Amino acid sequence: MCRRNDVHRPAAVANALSATTGAGTDRMVPDLTTENRDSVRSDLGTALENLCNAYDESALDPDPLFVVREFSDPRDQEIAAFFSALFAYGNARIIARNLRDLFSRMPGGPYGFVTASHLSSGARCLTGWQHRLHTGEDVAIMSSILAHVLRRHGSLERVFCRGLRKGARDVGVALEAFVPFLREQERHEVERRRFFRHLLPSPADGSACKRLNLFLRWVVRRESPDLGLWRTVSPSLLVLPLDTHVARICKQIGLTRRSTVDWKMAVEVTRKLRHFDPADPIRFDYALSRLGILGHCPLKTDINNCSRCPLHISCVIFRERGLS
Ligand code: SF4
Repeated sequence: MCRRNDVHRPAAVANALSATTGAGTDRMVPDLTTENRDSVRSDLGTALENLCNAYDESALDPDPLFVVREFSDPRDQEIAAFFSALFAYGNARIIARNLRDLFSRMPGGPYGFVTASHLSSGARCLTGWQHRLHTGEDVAIMSSILAHVLRRHGSLERVFCRGLRKGARDVGVALEAFVPFLREQERHEVERRRFFRHLLPSPADGSACKRLNLFLRWVVRRESPDLGLWRTVSPSLLVLPLDTHVARICKQIGLTRRSTVDWKMAVEVTRKLRHFDPADPIRFDYALSRLGILGHCPLKTDINNCSRCPLHISCVIFRERGLS
């Protein structure tokens, strides 16, 4: 374990970090527009690679994707991934427990349940299920939406890809078309349920769309631990699934200076990650999100914890704690 005096910071990082300006969160963000940018980027690239190497598949539990991978049929995996991503908010272990409860109420598996789904029958099976703001009634409405899509259009991927534009830099425009299309399938029910729209946010509303981007990561990316179920969307178009924990770490390592966790921040961070891997910019998401899910980067972290973190060379918190 490193002790405080063992901490080594390359001059380029120290210089760039000392160039931070302003107050509040901005004060903590390294300025990547300085003359040290290339060197800082190189250090950050190394740190991100080290972070990826630190977390293999064995660190997946209790991620909701762990529950999805309990299904072997790709059709079940896709529907389970959709629900699991939508309900991926709150404590990870509680999410996993509630998802297993949800899928146990779907006789025939998630795909069979959804394709046979009618609002009334779905709601009966799901009575009593709840995850924080959402209940079995929300799942029944979403199942009905998915049933309409699958019966009329064959697959979720086909509907999503209709919104992809040639030359698009990311999936933003496709999501802006996909989300209203889904809402429209059960417009009356969507408008009636107070928290339902929370399940289907759109970039057009400014939302970071963390959970929809998480679903896309799972079904589009081919490499472990993701599923690679969709073959017509390029991983290069994906946008980082940004929540408050990942956003905090992204700020600490200089990937954004923004204060609001929204679509603009998600796009900005993704653009900077593209510098390190243009073909697959969000491959870093799995490792970045482990820091929060596994409690390896708590809000009240300390120098001993930080010195073991693969990102410490690029993290302004480590610098501040190390110098104080
Ligand atoms: S160095 Fe510390 S504060 Fe920075 S990301 Fe790692 S654990 Fe978190």
